[in-house]
Amino acid sequence: MNKAIFPGSFDPFTVGHENIVLRGLNIFDHIVVAVGINSEKRGMFTMEQRLHFIKETFKNEPRVTVETYSGLTVEFAQKIGCTHILRGLRTSADFEFERAIAQVNKQMSGLDTSFLLCVPEHTPVNSSIVRDILLHHGDASMYVPKAIRAEIRRIAKQR
Ligand code: ADP
Repeated sequence: MNKAIFPGSFDPFTVGHENIVLRGLNIFDHIVVAVGINSEKRGMFTMEQRLHFIKETFKNEPRVTVETYSGLTVEFAQKIGCTHILRGLRTSADFEFERAIAQVNKQMSGLDTSFLLCVPEHTPVNSSIVRDILLHHGDASMYVPKAIRAEIRRIAKQR
């Protein structure tokens, strides 16, 4: 079975992430969305909320599961039996950043990284812009998956 890990911070999960996972399912049998625990970075959404958003987004897709991890992505990927790492690319800046990580990951573990280019309309979408909009009580609905729009709005309002 071809199983890929899609690692990230997903703070929060966006339509860009969702689209990469959905298209990744045309290539891989199973995708594990893995939320990295970064003790130095306090995000906007708690780990529980991030996991919930992703589970809700893929609640009808049994080929997508969600995990948290800390430490090296490749170590976790191998531990759970992933054969590939999946990442999304928006711009050439993404590519340069991702290239080094993918090459080091390959050297360390033998695991290859597969990249999917985002669809043109998702090029400007990123979690930090969504956080900024929410922080200032704007409407970020069009940037987050349909299944979690209402809930993100509700949580953001309570802040
Ligand atoms: P990280 O903190 O590791 O960059 P992110 O949560 O920002 O994690 O993103 C995880 C993955 O999703 C990365 O491969 C990133 O390039 C990709 N990604 C982020 N936003 C988009 C988007 N709008 N379209 C396609 N891929 C995206």
